[in-house]
Amino acid sequence: MGEFDLIARYFTRPTRRAVLGVGDDCALLAPAPGMQLAVSSDMLVEGRHFFADVDPEALGHKALAVNLSDLAACGARPLAFTLALALPRVQEPWLEAFARGLLRLADAHGCELVGGDTTQGPLNLCITIFGEVPAGQALLRGGARAGEDIWVSGTLGDARLALEALLGRAPLPPALLQAARQRLERPTPRVALGQALRGVASAALDVSDGLLGDLGHLLRASGVGACIDTSETIKLIAAGADPESVKPQFDLELLHQCTLAGGDDYELVFTAPVAARAAVEAAGRATGTPVTRIGRTEAAPGLRLIDAQGRAVTRSYASFDHFA
Ligand code: ADP
Ligand code: MG
Repeated sequence: MGEFDLIARYFTRPTRRAVLGVGDDCALLAPAPGMQLAVSSDMLVEGRHFFADVDPEALGHKALAVNLSDLAACGARPLAFTLALALPRVQEPWLEAFARGLLRLADAHGCELVGGDTTQGPLNLCITIFGEVPAGQALLRGGARAGEDIWVSGTLGDARLALEALLGRAPLPPALLQAARQRLERPTPRVALGQALRGVASAALDVSDGLLGDLGHLLRASGVGACIDTSETIKLIAAGADPESVKPQFDLELLHQCTLAGGDDYELVFTAPVAARAAVEAAGRATGTPVTRIGRTEAAPGLRLIDAQGRAVTRSYASFDHFA
């Protein structure tokens, strides 16, 4: 199968909202009046972001999910995406499963595949996604003020726990590994929540490299500091819903490491004024997304961690950095 047959077979579908999709030199999108385009790219590289033998359907899902998560963090509504794909060889069952995982998530979010590029080479996927947001209403990193609540959506740390288990560094009973692996391989982008938080949250970003590292970007952009309650964050690991009951099974320190700095969570971390608590909870309920308060912003720069008794936690947690 040649390059053009491959594109026609797996990646070409009738357009819906786009003016022009796959097949010409450019795709054409027509954003609605009064809307701004939100654009983001994410690359997934074999050996770096996924194992060579990963389920191709899950890989298709994840490649788009991580991009949808960036739109969610800005409060944007997904419109369309392009797919740049390097493939070592044409394996139809692999392509079929990959396209299924990719396009199922795309359809669930009304996000059309409108173009891309296909070449032979080491497996590498780059998606560029386009969304729309009412002019001036995008959620950005720089809007937090001192004395606001810090919230996080969903669960934290499960993806990292699964990775530790798959690398043989943490024993995990099969049922827990199954659940945690689902979070690693099929993250849930919080697209509806992001849009519901427009006009409610003061700042937001998505957690891809680890809570503390990513929150640090938001704090620096906003010129504030924060205090985080680690007795709240540790509860957010679904695989350790009750830290007391899992104590014999896991090292609590590992659970802190996974929740505070694990990475691959694709949850939203956001700030909102204390007066907006009910509005944040309503946004969570309306979109079926759990939201948890994990701390407060403060005028003094830097990130402070406390335990359940309010005592300072002195251990430091490093988030993922490709070049560190
Ligand atoms: P060009 O050479 O003008 O860049 P290509 O020959 O690379 O165009 O691609 C032909 C058409 O197929 C273009 O519309 C391009 O956007 C689309 N396309 C190529 N690869 C993919 C892909 N993996 N997924 C979706 N569309 C693709
Ligand atoms: Mg090309």
